Amino acid sequence: MDQALLIRLLEAVTVSGNEEAGQEIALEYGKCFAHAQRTDAVGNAFSVVNPDAARRVLLCAHMDEIGFRVTHICEDGMLRVQKAGGVRAGLYVGSPMQVVHECVEDGRAVRRRVCGVGVVTDELLKKGDVADGDLFIDIGAANRAEAAAVVSVGDSACADTRVRELLNRRVTARALDDKAGAFVILEAARLAAGRGASCGIVVNTCAGEETTGRGAYFAGAQTRPDCAVVVDVTWASDCPGGDPGSNGEVRLGGGPVLCHSGMVDKRMNRRLAQIAAEKGISLQYEVAAGRTYTDGDTLLKTGPGVPVALVSIPLRYMHSSVEIASLDDLQACIELIAEFLLRMDGGFDDPAPMP
Ligand SMILES: [Zn+2]
Repeated sequence: MDQALLIRLLEAVTVSGNEEAGQEIALEYGKCFAHAQRTDAVGNAFSVVNPDAARRVLLCAHMDEIGFRVTHICEDGMLRVQKAGGVRAGLYVGSPMQVVHECVEDGRAVRRRVCGVGVVTDELLKKGDVADGDLFIDIGAANRAEAAAVVSVGDSACADTRVRELLNRRVTARALDDKAGAFVILEAARLAAGRGASCGIVVNTCAGEETTGRGAYFAGAQTRPDCAVVVDVTWASDCPGGDPGSNGEVRLGGGPVLCHSGMVDKRMNRRLAQIAAEKGISLQYEVAAGRTYTDGDTLLKTGPGVPVALVSIPLRYMHSSVEIASLDDLQACIELIAEFLLRMDGGFDDPAPMP
């Protein structure tokens, strides 16, 4: 797998609603395997293998990440923000931050990165329930005019992190949720195409999962796939605060996680389990008695209804700037999904009785 791609995706700022920087990377990379590519009105980016095939599998992983949008530039040059997605605002007190300023220069849209910090005060450090409205970002500006020359209301902000490798082929970064998933679907499609897959493979790095769900809805409505595989992250239970009794026992490095849920198609799960057994890929299981809180919930309800499987990547410290995932899990997810695609010509109906 191409780790340079993973790093590029992780270091692009793609706060929900402003996913373009990541979509450009996905489309550029997709050229190495896709026969067709397109974008749509809501910010999705599609790379398609075998666009004229009779059967189509939609692969979805969301490109957007949690973060903030600038709401106000104060007289003293400080920035106020509103959260985009499920951020825990207290984590940004004393954190290195970055703002991405979007503007038009010479008729071209450009993005400029501005460094800053999440302001620290004794009051905020003592506060148990810090809200997004409590935060200030200090970019070093002396006053409002200076800040307004480089930042606009509506610009994205997020933690300023780099990808770092830990022991045991584990990596830490912000936004592994769900750039890790975007990486997996791009690599799985590349692998399957290289091995001669003949079904249609529609790779969509989805927009807006963390806020509006708009990307998945329109991806399903436009593509009308025979089935969809959604790749997202899930809570690892093997760390402080983890509880195997809440959603299932999920270990980092333990392999792809399939989901027992009313939202997930049992035939697809059986097919994936069969492939994993044949390929020696260890699987784990989680439970979502209701919704899965992924794009799968939205996709399922598009068009005449779409059979969905959820392949999740174990993740520690989700929705923080120090998420941790295992490269071995990413590789296993890629292998599993690529093999699923290679076996899609006959569909996924199997003769086994319903359990
Ligand atoms: Zn996610």
